[in-house]
Amino acid sequence: MLFNKYVFVTFIFVVVFLVISVLLRKEVETYAMYEANVKLDRILTNQKALHSYIENDLKPVIYKLKDEGKLYQKFFDAKILSFTYIARNVYEIENQIYKENKKPHLYYKLAANNPRNDLNKANAFEENIIKMFNENENIKEYKDIVEEEDKEFLYFAKPVTPNKKSCLKCHSDPKYAPQELIEKYGDVKGFHEKIGDIRAILSIKIPLDSELQYGNQYYTKLLVIIFIALLLVYTIIIYLLRNLDKKNNKLYEISTIDQLTNIYNRRVFDKDIHTSVIEVTRENKNLVLIMLDIDFFKKINDTYGHQVGDAILIKIAEIMQKSTREYDRVYRLGGEEFAIILKNIDMETSLLLAERIREEIQSHYAEDKNITASLGVCEYNKKDDVTLFYKKVDDALYMAKDTGRNRVVEYKES
Ligand code: GH3
Ligand code: MG
Ligand code: MG
Repeated sequence: MLFNKYVFVTFIFVVVFLVISVLLRKEVETYAMYEANVKLDRILTNQKALHSYIENDLKPVIYKLKDEGKLYQKFFDAKILSFTYIARNVYEIENQIYKENKKPHLYYKLAANNPRNDLNKANAFEENIIKMFNENENIKEYKDIVEEEDKEFLYFAKPVTPNKKSCLKCHSDPKYAPQELIEKYGDVKGFHEKIGDIRAILSIKIPLDSELQYGNQYYTKLLVIIFIALLLVYTIIIYLLRNLDKKNNKLYEISTIDQLTNIYNRRVFDKDIHTSVIEVTRENKNLVLIMLDIDFFKKINDTYGHQVGDAILIKIAEIMQKSTREYDRVYRLGGEEFAIILKNIDMETSLLLAERIREEIQSHYAEDKNITASLGVCEYNKKDDVTLFYKKVDDALYMAKDTGRNRVVEYKES
């Protein structure tokens, strides 16, 4: 059978398991992304707070003191008020603490095309993102999963405020820049910027592996539980299918096998004789039907009782079965009538077979009960239908009875 229900059920369970594992995997990734986004949100909020503190609290106070000459000039270093400088240092400290606590590193960078400090120089990837923000002002942020050295990161970038007039005081032509700036950084880096240009991005990389690892632990545990549960359901279904098969086989047996003699019944004979006729016609082969009827069986029943009659039916079925080839089928048509369908056989061999069965029955009961049987034999004529074929063999059997019983008669066209 091409369609095997056991293979099908197994296939369904494997598919269900695979679908569940893929869906769970996706869940783990979603969870990792969610956690990474929460972290990102915290970093951005910290950034905003730090920026706000420097611009609105720290700078006004220090500049006021400086302008009022209350600050010792040599003490003043512009970089201590630079957001870039402060943010970078805060992150370095933060990462140091993370390292001590064995927590993953956070990658934070203010990446610029034309920075004063080389630490802030954009790499090729960041340069492209700066270019993208400059080309399309509607893009407010960039977020993607990137892979570096087999590790996945959530990458985030957003542009810093485009150049304003106030920025150009220090970033346009060096000749307009404050002297102390030139003294400190030289007159090469960080100049010739234009108003409206985005010169840098805030670039953050959050490793996803720790979240993935955490999610994976649950993934594996859950998958094992699901596997066990599915295996249990699978075993129950297979057990029920097996039981159903056993019952079906029993039902099939009851509907096809004669319960007394254990050979095929009339229902199978009717089906077989039709298919055999079609088959031999198509393949141009011979088909012979033998019909057997026990002689004076009514009298035997009356003499020895029904139980002995039953035992004789069983014995005769056995003799017929033993006398035929493995692929010939023997049927009990009802009462004490039997039949054999023979394919690919000539009439001579068929008559010899019928004769052998008759002799075997006679000799088996020769000593006590004197039981015999009559047999009709007929070869299928391709012009006949099944009914006529059956009638012809019945006629031959009748002829055997009529001419004295305990004999084999071959059907002959009159
Ligand atoms: P004939 O030689 O003309 O065939 O005579 P017969 O007595 O064999 O023919 P008949 O058809 O008159 O009798 C058949 C008998 O078979 C009648 C019935 O009691 C008996 N019989 C039918 N089925 C069974 C069965 O399952 N067990 C037993 N023990 N007897 C059965
Ligand atoms: Mg009969
Ligand atoms: Mg009979």
